[in-house]
Amino acid sequence: MKKLQILVLCLLTKASFSQVPADSALVRLIEGNKRFVEGTTIKPNQSLERLKEVSTGQNPFAIIVGCSDSRVPSEIIFDQGLGDLFIVRTAGQVSSYASWGSIEFANAVLKAKLIVVLGHTKCGAVAAACNLPEVPGHIVTLINEIKPAATLAKEHIHKPEELIDSAVYYNVALQVEKLKQLEPVLSKAVISGDLKIVGAVYNLSTGKVEFLPADFLEKK
Ligand SMILES: [Zn+2]
Repeated sequence: MKKLQILVLCLLTKASFSQVPADSALVRLIEGNKRFVEGTTIKPNQSLERLKEVSTGQNPFAIIVGCSDSRVPSEIIFDQGLGDLFIVRTAGQVSSYASWGSIEFANAVLKAKLIVVLGHTKCGAVAAACNLPEVPGHIVTLINEIKPAATLAKEHIHKPEELIDSAVYYNVALQVEKLKQLEPVLSKAVISGDLKIVGAVYNLSTGKVEFLPADFLEKK
């Protein structure tokens, strides 16, 4: 994106230019999830003062690309508040053009330096991609995107009951790679070191978010 275009978008959104480095953003998420799991949440940035503070502009410190599942609300599981997270949610956290534009906007204009692709255990969209030969309507768009992960999982699991959660991890890892290579905004930002993209899986039973190693796919 050209500098002039970014400047115009910033003026339109009244975005401030305060920037949180990716590693610091990651620490904030890890610490927030730890509080959530331990039952010691502080519910930061949820006061009326914060409401007023962010009413004129936003400066989220991380982008979460997560599943729409009602049990995985990012602000709650990471113990964050208003203006903290820029969130894109679709079933199976499948990204397409509208999602990509949203993510690029958050990075290029709002200056968020960290993207977390957040899957979760027992994901229904992933289960459908693993087990259902046909699905109705536009759901097929989601399933087709997740199928490569289902195929990889089927090649690597030792027991049938491992299939869905294994596919959840592969789906996240493949989505991370796809976003890293997405032209023209994200790929450039990743190469220049201006953006970090990591994968993570939320455990529905424990509330814990497990961050995937960068070489997850290479190790498999
Ligand atoms: Zn899901």
